[in-house]
Amino acid sequence: MASSDEVFVGSIDQGTTSSRFLIFDKAGEPVAVHQEEFSQIYPNPGWHEHDPEEIVKSVENCIEGALKIFEKDGHSKDSIKAIGITDQRETTVVWDRTTGEALYNAIVWTDTRTAALARELKSRPGSDKLQDICGLPISTYPSVTKLLWLLRNQEKVRKAYEAGNLAFGTIDAWLIYKLNGGPDKNVFVSDPTNASRTMFMDIRTLKYSDEVLDFFSYEFDLRKVALPEIVRSSDPKAFGQIASGSLKGFPITGCLGDQSAALVGQKGFEPGSAKNTYGTGCFLLYNVGEKPVISTHGLLATVAYQFDEKPVYALEGSIAVAGSGVKFLMHNLGFSHASHKISELAETVPDNGGLVFVTAFSGLFAPYWIDDAHGTMFGITHHTERGHIARATLEAVCFQTKAILDAMEKDSGHKLAELKVDGGMSNSALCMQTQADLVSIPIIRPKMRETTALGAAIAAGFAVGVWKDFDELKEVNTKGQTVFEPKMKAKESKRMLKRWERAVDMCRGWLA
Ligand code: ADP
Repeated sequence: MASSDEVFVGSIDQGTTSSRFLIFDKAGEPVAVHQEEFSQIYPNPGWHEHDPEEIVKSVENCIEGALKIFEKDGHSKDSIKAIGITDQRETTVVWDRTTGEALYNAIVWTDTRTAALARELKSRPGSDKLQDICGLPISTYPSVTKLLWLLRNQEKVRKAYEAGNLAFGTIDAWLIYKLNGGPDKNVFVSDPTNASRTMFMDIRTLKYSDEVLDFFSYEFDLRKVALPEIVRSSDPKAFGQIASGSLKGFPITGCLGDQSAALVGQKGFEPGSAKNTYGTGCFLLYNVGEKPVISTHGLLATVAYQFDEKPVYALEGSIAVAGSGVKFLMHNLGFSHASHKISELAETVPDNGGLVFVTAFSGLFAPYWIDDAHGTMFGITHHTERGHIARATLEAVCFQTKAILDAMEKDSGHKLAELKVDGGMSNSALCMQTQADLVSIPIIRPKMRETTALGAAIAAGFAVGVWKDFDELKEVNTKGQTVFEPKMKAKESKRMLKRWERAVDMCRGWLA
């Protein structure tokens, strides 16, 4: 039977393909989990949408599902002290602030419908100054291009804009607003790790930048769009409380974008620590401390977290396609029905057989930033079989991670000693071994891989004193980790990387 002085923290993990609710104990162990997938909507080539209402519903279902398990195991919901939220980041929702109704589907971070718009924006005077302010280059990736597309192309959105009722937010802002009860309470906030992905935020002041807003306001006055107030990632009051369901009245006290949450969940609190999360996409974050580093080698500057007045920054390498490449083999090419089977298929061949697959389904992100890249398979022969394609799909992420680490070394002047990993695709031992071989440093995979959710729980727990300092987290999730040591000869990894770079050159310039 559970003791009455037990303390737990809930965590909403709103990912690209599924939502989850996890309940963590003070030792950082998940004691209850419920997960639900939701619809992926692909209306046109390159378009990727989610239904914002379905996302809210999936989160509510996950809360109820996990709570049922929690209570069945003898725990009391009163021992849940706080709730954290982590979310897919740049995904853009617009709604009417008078009714709380979404005005269009959420445009997902992977969506490339704005490739032409991004080119237009890049050609405007002053476009080269923006990255120094907000940390991101113009591309299809940040929320701003998605918002501009909505204003240009959706009448409902334009009407709300003209009436002064248009609200814009990333998924965290939308969820917090809806979970608090929508327009009744009007809790409309975002944290710096999410707000920094819109392009609107000055990465140094953590406020919306006038210069950036002016730059993007040549057609629509973006000051007429309501943007969420930016508050700290860990705060006892700012995120309000859940308005209905079994957790009615429970406080939301933490909020982090998914990649920042994973860094926190991996306890990457020291400058120089890094993590790589292999989910739908793959994102490497490197803690650079209390000053942002603006990349000159194709990386992004982002906020890692803000728990007190001083934010902590990260350099980020973003890969658009990781696990979604595995899903592409399953759903589009009918290779298998389960992700782990793709990894098993890749193991049926000793190597890639000369095949390279640049999985640039959403353009190619860091460190290349080729918006018009398309998926390209290079080196097909009569020898090529499905195992090679599976292997090349896993390897594509490992190659891009290597290119990102090289860029990071140039930007930061430091070489990483080891890389911590997590995310669904890190379940593939073959993928992780290939990664160690290509980057020539050990890859450390924790036993408990719900690090993103753990990070949001940590942010929430700090706000209410469940944990008081980082030292208390020292032992969290340290037992049972797997270390993948590099084994491949340097000559072989160099040869593979050379082929990859050639294939990247070939994926450019495919205009849809
Ligand atoms: P997200 O949070 O972005 O939704 P997850 O971290 O849950 O993503 O990871 C899901 C992805 O990981 C899916 O695309 C899935 O295909 C992939 N994946 C899960 N297990 C494996 C495996 N054993 N081998 C390869 N890929 C895997």
